[in-house]
Amino acid sequence: MNIATPIAHGCCDHRFEPELLHPTVSKLFMPSGVDGVYGRSGAYESVVEALAALISRHRPEAAEVFRFAPVMPRASLEKQGYLKSFPNLIGAVSTLVGSDREIARSAAKHEDGGDWTEDLRPSDLVLAPAACYPIYPIAAERGTVPDEGYVFDVAADCFRHEPSRHVDRFQSFRMREYVRIGTPAQIQAFREPWVERAKGIADVIGLTYTVEVANDPFFGRVGALMANQQREDALKFELVVPVRSAESPTACMSFNYHKEHFGEVWGLHNEAGDVLHTGCVAFGMDRLAVALFVTHGAEIAAWPASVRAALNL
Ligand code: ATP
Ligand code: ZN
Repeated sequence: MNIATPIAHGCCDHRFEPELLHPTVSKLFMPSGVDGVYGRSGAYESVVEALAALISRHRPEAAEVFRFAPVMPRASLEKQGYLKSFPNLIGAVSTLVGSDREIARSAAKHEDGGDWTEDLRPSDLVLAPAACYPIYPIAAERGTVPDEGYVFDVAADCFRHEPSRHVDRFQSFRMREYVRIGTPAQIQAFREPWVERAKGIADVIGLTYTVEVANDPFFGRVGALMANQQREDALKFELVVPVRSAESPTACMSFNYHKEHFGEVWGLHNEAGDVLHTGCVAFGMDRLAVALFVTHGAEIAAWPASVRAALNL
């Protein structure tokens, strides 16, 4: 049986050797030339699809399903305060605009050895940094939220500007989420059982894990204070798996309570006029897939039978 050992650190010693060249995962990813963006093999994708199906089998009965584009309105990101919290992670879409002649002139700069990108103009789109962001304005648009609240099943290709050669940190990655909108009690009643359910999912696919209090990577000095507060209030938990090392395990799922943040931003309210709270459970699909290969080896056929059965692989 091909049991892989966790990938060692060492990116600094091997600056020109992406960690991805570790034998367990080297066949799964094709380098694109940019760190954190890879072509993915069929075997790898079959695992991502199998994980998605496994997570779907745990879908809350009331959940409404939405699948989002990898881009979202820039105005939404601005409105929800992303520029304050995570400006370093933003990726924005920019385009060449103007008459055909102007666009041709900009494009020709490249052939002439010039910099065509100086003519790019910001569009009204940004790359989606999380799968759940587009759902709050959609829910708010419907008007008063019914007393039972909402549950959504959402997914999107996400982007975060965090170039890295580590096998667990991509710039472009898939995120799946179950999102709850409701009263604080409803969010609580959603999140707590989900921690247990998520442990059950990790168990059946043979991952070693712990669940820990965590914080979002808020930007800057003020961000550090926000991160401390988030931990103190236990607003975020992560299910972490030893992917690169046991000392710094990788967050593969997160359980988030945003309190009234999105409710206030988007005007989510119930019949009584109370601002509603939100929470989500997020599955990092690519991190889960990498964790499976690192744990069970490069050959799916050699994975434990119980794991393959759980994933129908
Ligand atoms: P981290 O602390 O590792 O940067 P995060 O707290 O920013 O993660 P969340 O915002 O909770 O992560 O995102 C939900 C899930 O998406 C994470 O639990 C993780 O599985 C996945 N994820 C986040 N960032 C990345 C990334 N750069 N590459 C791959 N998966 C990611
Ligand atoms: Zn979310």
